[in-house]
Order: sequence, then structure tokens, then C-alpha cells
Amino acid sequence: MTKSPEQLIRDDVRALSAYHVPERTGLVMLDAMENPHPLPATLQTEIAQLVSNVAINRYPDPQAGRLKARLRETMEIPSSMEIMLGNGSDELIQIIALAVARPGATLLSVEPAFIMFRMIAICAGLRYASVQLNPDFTLDVEAVITAIDQHQPAVIFIAYPNNPTGNLFDREGLLRIIRAAPGLVVIDEAYHAFAQESFIPRLTELPNLVVMRTLSKLGMAGLRLGFLAGRREWLTQLEKLRLPYNVNVLTQTVAEKLLQHIDVLLEQAREIKSQRAELYAELSGLPGVQAYRSDANFILFRVPRADEVFKGLIQRGVLIKNLNRSHSLLEDCLRVTVGTAKQNQQFIQALKQSLTL
Ligand SMILES: *Cc1c(COP(=O)(O)O)cnc(C)c1O
Repeated sequence: MTKSPEQLIRDDVRALSAYHVPERTGLVMLDAMENPHPLPATLQTEIAQLVSNVAINRYPDPQAGRLKARLRETMEIPSSMEIMLGNGSDELIQIIALAVARPGATLLSVEPAFIMFRMIAICAGLRYASVQLNPDFTLDVEAVITAIDQHQPAVIFIAYPNNPTGNLFDREGLLRIIRAAPGLVVIDEAYHAFAQESFIPRLTELPNLVVMRTLSKLGMAGLRLGFLAGRREWLTQLEKLRLPYNVNVLTQTVAEKLLQHIDVLLEQAREIKSQRAELYAELSGLPGVQAYRSDANFILFRVPRADEVFKGLIQRGVLIKNLNRSHSLLEDCLRVTVGTAKQNQQFIQALKQSLTL
């Protein structure tokens, strides 16, 4: 008798709901924090040329040495720190979680935050604990310190700026948390390009800190590339859990080229930030809408009857993210990614119509 999935698959895995990605074809896609701008045609041609010469029959450089060197330079990583690459930063979260998953070990985060912290903790067999943010989405530093005392977490994950709220937490509060933590603290800077603030310069003074970033939000979501910067003592251990060749040859080649043209992507990020300011002003001006200030490339906002507004937007061809019922602090909240000026206008028009249903 073969066993059924119910008998064989772990209870905690069966209890998870899969990360849901909706069908997006034909819609204005403002749900996933992608950079909406295409690459300049000259750069597209250059990449096509490069890719056509790639040895697809060969395994990629297992160390991705050239890409790492390029990242070190563009991201200003101190020479004393190591870099580890992931197939997206999601994979790095998974590697860190697996590495610390002794029986009974805890991963601590805040909520609402990036939901993969919890999902991956559970998949890795970690206990998961979280501290609720204040109603204005600031960090309750005292509550985090108390939770640290209580749970003695092996690892703490904090996104800076936070997703889905968009704000940067207080720097001094985070420093207190890092100093109070008995384990590793991962600062996830996925939205760094839109915020400027960073903990990378602090790596040298804080021995239990590592900093993670992704290139997804900067304009390379399709390539799947994230990196972790931190001390050799941590990264040599984590490297053992990285599967060989996790960053494929096309990603290595194209990302290296795009990092040579980081000015193009940073200019797009500047444009997104300026559009963010306009979108925030427009949203704040709509009756019944409460928009939250953002240091990322998206804006969280609250509307009456969010589910209906969300559906109304889809009917009008615009897909954003519905966060209603995802957390008690996010009642009637929606999250919109900042798009091009034109997309943002389409969104605002569709929103106005959906609000007056
Ligand atoms: C998008 C996001 C990631 C994941 O990025 P990938 O590199 O695409 O896997 C990680 N952390 C936060 C906070 C994010 O919002």
C-alpha cells in the first residue's frame, strides 16, 4: 500500500497555503513591485549579442567571481566582507533558515512583513515568532526586545524598508535590536534603490549582522538574483547549503552587463521615486482614501470596502495587491506598485471609478 499525501507530507507543510500568483495577462501589472521601464534599445542589443555567445552547454562559473566583483563595486560592499549569491533573495532566506534550524530554534520577525519569512521558517522546521508593528507601522522596539528575551531567536529577519508597509524603521531602534539579539540578524534591503538608507556600512561594527539585497526590484526580476553581504565566519557556513550552480549562466552574464550600466537602472529608480511622490499626492487627495508614506517602489493605502475596490480595478484592467484580511493591521488595505506615469494614471482613473461603485 502506497501512502497518500496526507500520510506522507509533513502536517506543517500541508497546513501552508501556496504563495499565490494571480493570472496577469492583459492587465496593467502593478502588483509585484517590478520596475515598469524596459531597457534602452542599445542595451537590449548588447545583451542579445552577449547571450548569443554564452556557452549554454557548460555549467556556469560556480563562484560567479566576475559578477561578485561587479556587485562589490556597485553596491559598495566593504572589502573585509564576503558575498553570497542566491537564485533571488528568497533562496538566501531559505539557506539561512536551513542553516540555523536546530530542533526548537526560532526565527523572529515583525508583522505585517514579507510573508516568505514565515513560510520559509515553517518549511525549514523552525519555530516562528513575530512581533506586531504599531498601528502606524512603526517598530515596537520594546516589544521586539521582550520577544528576543523570551524566544532567544536563532535568527531575526527585518525588511528595511518594510514590505508591505513601505516604511523604513527607526535606525536607532534597529541598532538596539541587533545589539540585543543573541543570534543572527538579517536586514533585508530589497527596496534599497528607492530608500538610500543602508546597514551595509554597519557590517564591520556589528558581528551578528548580515545584509541581504535583491536585484529584482531594481529591474532584473526575471533574472532571479539576490545577494548576502556579511562576515566570512557566517558566509563560509552558509555557502555549504548553497546548491552548486544556483545562479545560472544567463543570469550571471546579463546581470554583470546590467551592473556595468547601473546608471540606467538608477535613473529609472529616480523616475519611480518621483512618480511615487505624485501617486502619493493623488491617492491622498481622493476622498475616503488613506495613503501611507513609502520609501519603496509601492504605496500601501486604505479604502472603504477594499475587496470590492480590488475587483473593480481588475474589471478595469488594473491588477494591484489585495492585503485585506492578510493581517489585522491591514484591514481594507491595498498595495500598488509605482508604475510609469501612464500606468499610474490608468490606475488612478480606475480607482476613482471603483470607489464610486
Ligand atoms: C521582493 C522581496 C524579496 C524577494 O526578492 P527576490 O530576490 O525576487 O526573491 C525579498 N524580500 C523582500 C522584503 C521583498 O519584498
